[in-house]
Amino acid sequence: MPAHRNRIIGVAFVLVLAILPVTPVTPEFWITLLNYIGLSSLVVLGLVLLTGVGGLTSFGQAAFVGIGAYVTGYLTTAYGVSPWLTLPTGLAVTALVAGAIGVITMRLSGHYLPLGTIAWGISLFFLFGNMDWLGKYDGLNGLPALHLFGISLERGRQIYYLIWLFVLLAVAATANLLDSRPGRAIRALRGGTGMAESFGVNTARYKIIIFVYAALLACVSGWLYAHLQRSINPTPFGINAGIEYLFMAVAGGAAYVWGAILGATLVTVAKDQLQDLLPRLLGSNGNFETIVFGVLLVLLLQHAQDGLWPLVTRLSGARTPTRKPVARSFGGVDPLPVRPRPAAGERVLDVRDVRKEFGGLVAVNDISFSVAAGEIVGLIGPNGAGKSTTFNLLTGVLPATGGEVRFCGTRIDGRPARDIVHLGMARTFQHVQLLTGMSVLENVALGAHLRSPVGITRAALRLDRRDEQRLLAEAARQLERVGLGSYQEELAGNLALGQQRILEIARALAADPVLLLLDEPAAGLRYREKQALAAVLGQLRREGMSILLVEHDMEFVMGLTDHLVVMDFGTKLAEGKPEAVRANPLVLEAYLGGVEPSAAEEASHG
Ligand code: ADP
Ligand code: MG
Repeated sequence: MPAHRNRIIGVAFVLVLAILPVTPVTPEFWITLLNYIGLSSLVVLGLVLLTGVGGLTSFGQAAFVGIGAYVTGYLTTAYGVSPWLTLPTGLAVTALVAGAIGVITMRLSGHYLPLGTIAWGISLFFLFGNMDWLGKYDGLNGLPALHLFGISLERGRQIYYLIWLFVLLAVAATANLLDSRPGRAIRALRGGTGMAESFGVNTARYKIIIFVYAALLACVSGWLYAHLQRSINPTPFGINAGIEYLFMAVAGGAAYVWGAILGATLVTVAKDQLQDLLPRLLGSNGNFETIVFGVLLVLLLQHAQDGLWPLVTRLSGARTPTRKPVARSFGGVDPLPVRPRPAAGERVLDVRDVRKEFGGLVAVNDISFSVAAGEIVGLIGPNGAGKSTTFNLLTGVLPATGGEVRFCGTRIDGRPARDIVHLGMARTFQHVQLLTGMSVLENVALGAHLRSPVGITRAALRLDRRDEQRLLAEAARQLERVGLGSYQEELAGNLALGQQRILEIARALAADPVLLLLDEPAAGLRYREKQALAAVLGQLRREGMSILLVEHDMEFVMGLTDHLVVMDFGTKLAEGKPEAVRANPLVLEAYLGGVEPSAAEEASHG
């Protein structure tokens, strides 16, 4: 959808929202419904970030709504504190509680995380219900109405504006955040954290941040709810409500900011209708809508995994855009600072007797070699030789059993991947790890994560535009450098494998590395793609980049490398100039070893 069209729809939406309560023909229950939709939207927006984007499922958001409601409920009724003071207090309490819960639960993986959220969702619910001073299950009554500039927000039509103001601010903040440096880091959390960590993203910290962010939005919703209802009890903060919020997020399209409002609207309206209709149809009372929602959720997950928001944008006339990727230009943007580089010939990487044992298997057997600045070293060997394991020892993915690795004089063995990239070593992956739903440019910008100081707050308030421009300009420059300049706005997932491999090189270059580590960049590529890759590597070599190239394919590295290290069964077999190594009988034996070379190569690409 073109940007100006988006803006028109956005403005129209806000206008309709603004006018609804002042028209005398708007029925009161519309206002009531819209208020509830707004309150839910706030919570669901948090889930968009947490679950839809970050991939962390939470059933427990309703508990944070409860914290927001109970903090203001208690302080206003027991001590007469102004609601405008209880909001920041509630936010502080929520941040503390969510921070503590986040530190514990965000470490859980797979199904344990959702189960963990159910557990604390239930605990907080019972906490509200069992505290004498919180009125047990009867709750608290007689909360004051909000007042703003002397106007009482007692009636639904009045507090409506405040609710929707918060919703629109939250939409803007969340959308800003997603389109920023921290946003890219958050979008990289999904599907494993190894790649993000290797570009310096502190994934554990970002998980806690989005968890707290989502909890804060829920807290605001609870505060508003308390002063809309003027009385509270534990029921709306239980696990049922938590499930309903998650359903809203999934229905709207968990990864879309506007999907939050859509989901909240659909579910709130449907619930209202079903609560009338179902008991009449079935002739008895009960929460039958829960059953209908359960069935709908299953259908949705089977037929529209991305929720209904993508469907809406498609129906609204934005057919598959005829992609004509236009490269953005970044004229006049200050370039990012670059790190000092060692002089040509200086030792960049020094590997001494590095060893890795997996149980009884010695995968890397006291390997030593070094890489000098401006040199391309190939680490080659047949399948299972221990190349990838060595690579992982160097990049901090695996801890070594013994030995020493020095990078520009600093000892790096035992340091985490995040520190190593910080020192100037950047890598690509044997199995391409791109964020396929993000543009090529954004993927490369993730590589420059450590080169910008922009944090969550600045990003959410959109005070990061200059830094963002510099980051994107750097990404564009690296794309240009590897010959992908015209693909900036293409989705990374639409590129061919060969281009994706080169894109990974651009992403690594964006980290401003002193040493580039490439893990089997030619694996699985077709002949022409290999040629394109070789051209890029040749170019980098002429520019004086230091590269450690881990490769199975000996022919590929022949013309590209200054020095070869050959491994077999974890041991260093030979090392030296490429031609000499190729002629070495031990190497020939290891590579040919009775198997046709082409067959061996095929097997390695399976
Ligand atoms: P290459 O990359 O040269 O093909 P690898 O480094 O992947 O070789 O593997 C070297 C040896 O270590 C192989 O025998 C492999 O089975 C073993 N290995 C690799 N990773 C692990 C692991 N995580 N646990 C146990 N054995 C492993
Ligand atoms: Mg390997």
